[in-house]
Amino acid sequence: MKKLLVAAVGIAVLTWSAGVSAWGADVHRLITRRAIEGLPPELKPFFMARADFIVEHSVDPDFWRVVDLTNQFGTEDPNHFLDFDGFNEPAPFAGVPRDWKTVVEKYGADLANKNGRLPWRAEEVFNKMVASLADLQKYPQGYGGENARYQAAVLAHYVEDAHQPFHAVMNFDGQLTNQRGIHSRFETELVLRNRASLKLAPVTITPIRDFKAFIFDALLADQPLVATVLAADSKAVENREMYDDGYFAALAKNGALAVAEQRIGDSASAVASAWVAAWEKAGKPKLPVDGPRTPARIRK
Ligand SMILES: [Zn+2]
Repeated sequence: MKKLLVAAVGIAVLTWSAGVSAWGADVHRLITRRAIEGLPPELKPFFMARADFIVEHSVDPDFWRVVDLTNQFGTEDPNHFLDFDGFNEPAPFAGVPRDWKTVVEKYGADLANKNGRLPWRAEEVFNKMVASLADLQKYPQGYGGENARYQAAVLAHYVEDAHQPFHAVMNFDGQLTNQRGIHSRFETELVLRNRASLKLAPVTITPIRDFKAFIFDALLADQPLVATVLAADSKAVENREMYDDGYFAALAKNGALAVAEQRIGDSASAVASAWVAAWEKAGKPKLPVDGPRTPARIRK
C-alpha cells in the first residue's frame, strides 16, 4: 500500500517541470483577473484594456526560474518565498530584520538567500511600477503606462506568492513531514478541482503605507495556515493508496480548501491594493485606456 503512494508521489514530481513553484499558473491567472475586476474606477479601465496581457504575464516569474534568469540579488528562485522559520528565531519572527543588508549581515549571504527574498524583490518591482507611473504623469505620451502594465503583472505574481502559505515555511513541500507533493496538491489540483464552486471574499482595497511591511505581514499570516493544510493532508491520506478523487474530497473537507479560498481571496485584494498604492505613490496619473500609437518624442 505504501509503495503505491510513493509511486504516485514520484509521478507527481516528474510531471511537474517547474519544480515547487507558486500557486499553479492557472491559479495565478485566476487571482490576477479577479484583482483587475475589483479595481476602483480610476484604475479599472486602464487595466481592463490590458487584462489579457497582465493576466498572462503574471505567470512569467515562474518561467524565469526555468531558464535561470538572474537579477542584482542573484538567481530567480529565492525571489518567490521567505522561510521565516529558517532563521532559528522564535515566532512571530520579530528577530528577523526587515532590511535585506541587515539580514545578510546577521545570518550570512548563504542562509539569507536560502531562506528567500520575496519581500525585497516584491518591493523592488513595486518601486519600478511607481517610477513608470510617475513617468506617465510627467510624459503622458511616453511609455510609462506600457511599462507599468508589465510591472503590474510581475508585481501581481510576487504578491500572490506571498499569500501561498507554503511560501513562508521551510517545510515548503511537506518534505520534512513525509508529505512530499503537498505544495502542488494544495495550490493547484485542490483549487482547480473546486474552481467552479470557490467561495471567495469580494476584492477590497487596503491602503498600504509601507509596501515591504505589507508583504511581511502577508507571509506572517501564512505561517499558522500551513499546519491546517498539513493536518488535512495527513487525515486525507489515511488508508488511501493514491491521490485520487477521494483524497482530494477529504483534503477539501478537512480544511485545506477553506485555507485556499481564504488566501486566494486575500491575494486578489492584496494585488489590487498594491496597484492602487503604486498609482497613488506616483501622484495619481491619469491612466490612458489606449497605449501610445507612435514612438513618442520626449522633451526634457
Ligand atoms: Zn512564484
